Amino acid sequence: MKYLSTRAARTDSSGRKRFCEILLEGLAPDGGLYLPEHYPQVDAALLARWRTVWGEQGYAALAFEVLSLYIDDIPAADLKAICDKTYTEAVFGTPQIVPLTKLEDAAAGSGSAALCLEALSNGPTLAFKDMAMQLLGNLFEYELARRGEQLNILGATSGDTGSAAEYAMRGKKSVRVFMTSPAGRMSPFQQAQMFSLMDENIHNIAVDGVFDDCQDMVKAVSNDLDFKRKYRIGTVNSINWARLLAQVVYYFAGYFQATQSDSEKVCFTVPSGNFGNVCAGHVARMMGLPIDKLVVATNENDVLDEFFRTGVYRVRGSADTFETSSPSMDISKASNFERFVFDLLERDGALVKSLFGAALADRGRFDLCADPRFGQAAGRFGFVSGKSTHGDRLRTIRKTWERFGVMIDTHTADALKVAREQLRAGVPMIVLETALPIKFAATIVEALGREPDRPARFEGIEALPRRVTAMAADVAAVKAYIAQHCS
Ligand SMILES: *Cc1c(COP(=O)(O)O)cnc(C)c1O
Repeated sequence: MKYLSTRAARTDSSGRKRFCEILLEGLAPDGGLYLPEHYPQVDAALLARWRTVWGEQGYAALAFEVLSLYIDDIPAADLKAICDKTYTEAVFGTPQIVPLTKLEDAAAGSGSAALCLEALSNGPTLAFKDMAMQLLGNLFEYELARRGEQLNILGATSGDTGSAAEYAMRGKKSVRVFMTSPAGRMSPFQQAQMFSLMDENIHNIAVDGVFDDCQDMVKAVSNDLDFKRKYRIGTVNSINWARLLAQVVYYFAGYFQATQSDSEKVCFTVPSGNFGNVCAGHVARMMGLPIDKLVVATNENDVLDEFFRTGVYRVRGSADTFETSSPSMDISKASNFERFVFDLLERDGALVKSLFGAALADRGRFDLCADPRFGQAAGRFGFVSGKSTHGDRLRTIRKTWERFGVMIDTHTADALKVAREQLRAGVPMIVLETALPIKFAATIVEALGREPDRPARFEGIEALPRRVTAMAADVAAVKAYIAQHCS
């Protein structure tokens, strides 16, 4: 299997790479994102076999089956060992790894559908980013050892990504993590999760500024190619193909749990920001998983909902990007969206390049409503969308607690609100639960008047000693810090 850039001309196959070559890379050299040359097809026989693998051997074995179709430059026994080591009950809290909770049964004869939550949030940091990041940590360790190399990961986080990366990389000898975050802006629980890590290879940097300042610093360092090479700077952001691939697995696991037979279809609703999670659903659907609709749920930052409703993709400025109570979906542009547009436009890399390069740079938008292929986003590709606000979030958290005794976090609430608008007769709806409520306690208290439950292992973490360096939003300062800590 080779990978190509979303901006590569159709006739040019020179830049195609194998999995391990793109594993440690971010963007392709032309600024595009990597995708496989084709999506391996899961026919009826293979789907039936995978249902048995899931039922008899569980998540790690299913992950190995899916990953094997995309990774042919790691020996099978090694890849199997990496999957087995990653997806364990010890790391993810349950034997199913991504257990399904049924909220509502399909009422017999009424044509209504079952409504389920698929928990992706039982990993070490209680958000779905662990699902991919834990695998990435083990893949990085494997590949760096094979090459005899070291990597220094520089990142920016508003909360979930940074902690997932740190918990995935902690204690790994070949990797250091330098994670910038906006001082005082993450939730108290998120700050405690990150700053209480005492591992030598983890460096927390609290920047006097907002998330965009952190991201700008990371970009500035990465654009200094000499510095980047000298200090072997890498990233783990959501455009990394291995992260996306890891996420494909739980769409299959959700499907097998929600259905009895492979003739059934399901819908998924995905709380979305950078389009990484739902893009994995798109890949699963392209492989042949019987997904009817992929429902994209946004918060007030509705870049994606606007596109799926109108065909206009309009990047927001900092003045019209809102700070909301589902902060992991607060985005001004959706960094994985280019992957879907590439497929929508029949893999016309030159056109994608002009849209995401020149058009966005010049006008901050492009418009596909006149392109006949835009209609296929809903038709052939199954995408629909909706949006949720702070009021919707509070109402949904309250209703879900009152009716089912189930407490959901703010991001999951956005998805559940939108999912209810998209229910289809007879088709189970699986809502992806992307975080546990404890991470966003203030809004839970606002909705329910009580504190969310806290997993026992996080008892008292706010009181633990902290390891964090305060810094001005200054590129020279972060470079000096990295230089000093990479001996
Ligand atoms: C990152 C995140 C999202 C958004 O996922 P994308 O892949 O960026 O669309 C949603 N919910 C939570 C809790 C997250 O951490």
